[in-house]
Amino acid sequence: MRANWPDDDEPKPAPQPLRRIQALVNTVERPDGADRLADPSDARPWMIANGLLAPSAELTAADLALAIEVREALRALLIHNAGGPRPGPEAVAPLQRIAAKGRLQAAVGDGGVVTLRVDGDSVADRLAGLLPVIRDGQRDGTWALLKACGNDECRWVFYDSSRNHGGTWCDMASCGNKLKNRQFRARRRADGPSGQVPHQGGGQRAQPVE
Ligand SMILES: [Zn+2]
Repeated sequence: MRANWPDDDEPKPAPQPLRRIQALVNTVERPDGADRLADPSDARPWMIANGLLAPSAELTAADLALAIEVREALRALLIHNAGGPRPGPEAVAPLQRIAAKGRLQAAVGDGGVVTLRVDGDSVADRLAGLLPVIRDGQRDGTWALLKACGNDECRWVFYDSSRNHGGTWCDMASCGNKLKNRQFRARRRADGPSGQVPHQGGGQRAQPVE
């Protein structure tokens, strides 16, 4: 068992209950880091602790595959929140599947507070229980602040609590500058086969930040 998993120390945590979505999507450190859902013996305790598996239940291969599909569908939505492309039909299909199967029930608590919960205890039902969280966030504006990092090799999910809500990177130092460097190099390549930056009338070109 690893001592530390990708989301153990979340640098930009979302408020609950959106944090549940963030935790699921951040179970893997892309592109080639640890994946908490890769192995059932690691995935089972995590899913129980995060309410996605009943404590007494076994974790089947199909359940685990579904959780990973839903994780990646959510990531596609959160890439869109960060200004990326709108998720297509294939990207949202896993969410539509759990939505079609889940039976939502309204409950009215003391004081008249209305909540929605999923009737059922399977992994699919519990994953469907994330849908009202998304829906509430879409209505109160917090969903739009949950974003996948703009670095396509990273896509770590962060909550954008910056004042202008214009955050693009999970971390400026590790991802923002990396991408700026890449764009800088691409521009340089496009500028000439020698890789030299043509002199442009004494104008200063942006220098990459290491
Ligand atoms: Zn990142």
